[in-house]
Amino acid sequence: MSNCIFCDIIEGKIPAEKIFEDDDVLAFKDVNSQAPYHFLVIPKLHIPTLNDSDNAELIGKISITASLIAKQEGFSEDGYRLVMNTNKDGGQIVFHIHLHCLAGRQLGWPPG
Ligand code: 5GP
Ligand code: ZN
Repeated sequence: MSNCIFCDIIEGKIPAEKIFEDDDVLAFKDVNSQAPYHFLVIPKLHIPTLNDSDNAELIGKISITASLIAKQEGFSEDGYRLVMNTNKDGGQIVFHIHLHCLAGRQLGWPPG
């Protein structure tokens, strides 16, 4: 997909600190980290928002990928937060579905 920063990361046109990759998904560190651990898990398929997909397998896989990374990195028991911002009121800036994983400190609730 042209004009998509995350497709550019998938294609290697823009560098990113990759954490995990397979045929379906990519996980990489968020460039503007909001917590000691803050990474994004994205499908390699360009899907603009959660409203645009009924692909339960792929949408589920990004959650499972985040949990596997949490276990691998050793913060799964302390805990973490998964967030998928959708459209304007959700604060979505990049229109390629991505799951934020935040961890490593006590996270506030509710979000602002
Ligand atoms: P959104 O508000 O759309 O849910 O969040 C987009 C996230 O993508 C933000 O947290 C932002 O810091 C991150 N981001 C935007 N551009 C880049 C980039 O080029 N590289 C990386 N690693 N993260 C990015
Ligand atoms: Zn894309």
